[in-house]
Amino acid sequence: MKIYVVGIGPGGIDELTPRAYKTLESCTIIAGYKRYVDLIRKYFPEKSFMISSMRQEIERCENLLDAVKENNVDGALISSGDAGVYGMAGLMLEIASGSGIEVEVVPGITAANSAAAVLGAPLMNDYVNISLSDLMTDWNTIAKRLVLASEGDFVICLYNPASNHRPENFKKACRILLKYKSPDTPAGYVRNIGREGQEFTIMTLNEIQHCDKIDMLTTVIIGNSQSYIQNGKIITPRGYKLE
Ligand code: SAH
Repeated sequence: MKIYVVGIGPGGIDELTPRAYKTLESCTIIAGYKRYVDLIRKYFPEKSFMISSMRQEIERCENLLDAVKENNVDGALISSGDAGVYGMAGLMLEIASGSGIEVEVVPGITAANSAAAVLGAPLMNDYVNISLSDLMTDWNTIAKRLVLASEGDFVICLYNPASNHRPENFKKACRILLKYKSPDTPAGYVRNIGREGQEFTIMTLNEIQHCDKIDMLTTVIIGNSQSYIQNGKIITPRGYKLE
């Protein structure tokens, strides 16, 4: 009896690691948010699926724990990308603690990495991930992190950049970044990475603040002072001296 928290990568089966695949194969129950279960379901037709909706994260973990105990089987809880990056790994560890059920986290390719690969090589030097979701982190804290990451000249990767509930957060964040970063700083977004309808655009920080394509299915990367655009790709130099 064991619970695996499995990052399934950004979308398609190609970006699910062999370890994640084998783990899902070995489990009797697979639990997750409907959108993510739908992405992998056809590859594991014999499994028993436990589907839940958004904002039911605590119940999802508790129900899986109960089901694993009751049936004396292994279960997997899936997250998109990596389960330890704004995913379910921490919550599952907290909820299972003291239950006697072991939890193992199986890593996945997070959106920052898969978005970076589409945009070129923007994360070649120090970078930070900042989520613009203020559901569980208050906006003042998010704003402070945006300021400090900009002052530190980090490349910044924005998760949860905007949603129907908070369409303004992305524009507010760009206004903060523009106080510290040049308006010409390379910036790009990737939408639906690894999924049907994947699209991306590379532009400047000044331009991206007005972009109306940024939503919850989008990851945004904003360069540092060294980043530049070449042949349609963002490059952040690592520091090698080219002749
Ligand atoms: N655990 C996930 C992140 C969950 S937070 C991971 O490691 O990738 C949800 C946010 O992740 C989205 O709002 C978006 O910013 C980003 N994201 C996750 N999957 C994505 C995808 N396929 N395409 C674009 N962005 C994605």
